[in-house]
Amino acid sequence: MEVVKVTPRGYCKGVVRAIQIAKECAMKYPDVPITVLGMLVHNRYVMEALKLYHIQMIDDPNKTRVELLDDISEGIVIFTAHGIAPSVFAKAKEKGLIIIDATCPDVLKTQEIVQAHLSKGYEILYVGKAHHPEAEAVCAISNHIHLIESSDHIPLHIQNPVFVTNQTTMSIFDLKRLFDQIKVLYPNAVFCEEICNATRIRQEAVANAANEGVDVLFVVGDITSNNSNRLAQIALEQGIKRVYLIDSVQDIQDEQLLNCQRVAVTAGASTPTYLTNQVISYLNNYATQKQKPEIVISKIL
Ligand code: SF4
Repeated sequence: MEVVKVTPRGYCKGVVRAIQIAKECAMKYPDVPITVLGMLVHNRYVMEALKLYHIQMIDDPNKTRVELLDDISEGIVIFTAHGIAPSVFAKAKEKGLIIIDATCPDVLKTQEIVQAHLSKGYEILYVGKAHHPEAEAVCAISNHIHLIESSDHIPLHIQNPVFVTNQTTMSIFDLKRLFDQIKVLYPNAVFCEEICNATRIRQEAVANAANEGVDVLFVVGDITSNNSNRLAQIALEQGIKRVYLIDSVQDIQDEQLLNCQRVAVTAGASTPTYLTNQVISYLNNYATQKQKPEIVISKIL
């Protein structure tokens, strides 16, 4: 069985930066409680590994970031790579928390572009995922921002000039379709495509792998990771018949590899390289050794 390592894959610069910021914070404040507001990056193994640095996390899919802040009473709060709404920032300050902001610069850039167009009187159509922290942070800025998850959400009859942009980790293919549909309704709208480069080149690499023909693709990534889910979605859309989003090597099942001549491996931007390398190594040795390696949390970061 041939193992194709899809390149590029795995950690992006925003994730590496966020993890570095969190680790430096832990070293600088060894005696202060440190809490991440949500998942620093969308990978549960990264969050487990951060506990070894005395960094805790609070998360609840039914609560907004503003609501979650009520559960932090002291110490340091770290804002995640997905960005934060100005109201959350203000509330953390009011509570007297020390703020460490690990927002990815690419996410911040999109927020600044949205703010600039709001101040010029634009109505914003923001293509993103409901309940994703990046979209939540942008949409909390103003009532003039409309979250567009599908063409059903495109508002009709907007009178103000329209500005259209997006969450950084959307599918390049979905986004083009939605932008085209919006263009039909609002031919004078201003478009600013904000898929980050890391997301784009990982998605293009998966599409190329599909064109070259593989039987099975494993996407190593967390179920909560939007960019990992998009890689799996694009692989299916581009014709790979068997696509599996897996947390780690532990999730690989023998049935998934039946009659497989070429298996490809990619990883979401928040997936630790250690986990992806374990998957690749296991598949490389699949014919001779079926023992799965253990996951050692201290090796994650
Ligand atoms: S996927 Fe893109 S936007 Fe998200 S953290 Fe990485 S570089 Fe930043």
